[in-house]
Amino acid sequence: MRFLKAERIFSGIDYLPADTVLVVDDEGFIKDLLLEPELDKSQIERFEGILSPGFVNAHCHLELSHFKDKIPQKTGLPGFALEVVKQRGNFPAEFMEDAMSAADRGMWENGIVAVGDISNGSDSFKTKTSSKIHYHTFIELIGLNPKNADSIFEKGKEQLKMLWDLGLAGSLAPHAAYSTSKELIHKIAGFDQHNKSPFSIHNQESPEEAKFFMGEPNGFMKLYDFLNLDISWFKAPEMSSLKYYGGNLSEKNALLVHNTFTNQSDINFVKHKNVIWCFCPCANKYIENTLPDFSIFEAENICIGTDSLASNLGLDLLEEINLIAEESNHFSMQQLLKAVTYNAARALGIEEKFGQLLPGKRPGLNLLKKEDTKLKFIKKIC
Ligand SMILES: [Zn+2]
Repeated sequence: MRFLKAERIFSGIDYLPADTVLVVDDEGFIKDLLLEPELDKSQIERFEGILSPGFVNAHCHLELSHFKDKIPQKTGLPGFALEVVKQRGNFPAEFMEDAMSAADRGMWENGIVAVGDISNGSDSFKTKTSSKIHYHTFIELIGLNPKNADSIFEKGKEQLKMLWDLGLAGSLAPHAAYSTSKELIHKIAGFDQHNKSPFSIHNQESPEEAKFFMGEPNGFMKLYDFLNLDISWFKAPEMSSLKYYGGNLSEKNALLVHNTFTNQSDINFVKHKNVIWCFCPCANKYIENTLPDFSIFEAENICIGTDSLASNLGLDLLEEINLIAEESNHFSMQQLLKAVTYNAARALGIEEKFGQLLPGKRPGLNLLKKEDTKLKFIKKIC
């Protein structure tokens, strides 16, 4: 049994009283939260810095790990997607496997204990079955033509069953509004709600998405040309993408990812839904060289993801936090820490297991330090 005390202990929601001591067993289970005067002082391990629950990465694409350093920066989203499509057949399977294992290990070493991970195929399943990290896999479905919604949905369910049969957690998720029909989004949202599972969609990541829905010339046309997709039948609804599909969102845990071009009116439109806004600021810098207007979002409903190594230099949630804090003083450090612990766990529906320091749970434990205005990861305690 270990008795752990630090300058500050963050519970996942707020800071615990100054003389709190965490009692943790050899397997990392939290046994108790005691106060220092109740204990023999000689048995207490003391740390400089902040103890926090293990981090939860709300948005990642493990299967894109082999694209590290392969995609040029600041091309805009259509250019980025085109580059991924062009290069995707270039890598041997072993190289891809090794890249996923290294990314998985790297996240664990960076204090991440759970991940919401997007999968287009089954490439990442093997890494996930042998990982120390808990993965919630979003089986991602794409198909803009409503005629194909049923068949794509059925295939998605087959793939999800394959994932479940491996003992892995998961649900279905549409890719984005510009690539997935409203009919398919509606089916997926209903399915996830029925299963009490989280839902995820890439939302308003690029100004091109807004142009696409407003019927203006946009960068996705080049991508669809390259893919030989005829979308001449698509009639732009002349409204923002979120207003177009937002009415179809599940009532339960809808993760909207990126939100780089979301405005107040979009937020108001989905106010009655249980939306959790997921930011991936390092990827926004990498792809679009811009960031969301953080000032319009409420801290209660935000979480953070790293996106993939195709669009980021690392999979490190403190890098993401530090970038947000550098660019905006809208959120406090405490709110940002909550975003990568309790809020992200809630978004993935795993808050009973992760994201909080509660007796009987094994949420992982990280030691951090504040240096100047930045949070620095020191080490994993358990
Ligand atoms: Zn993504």
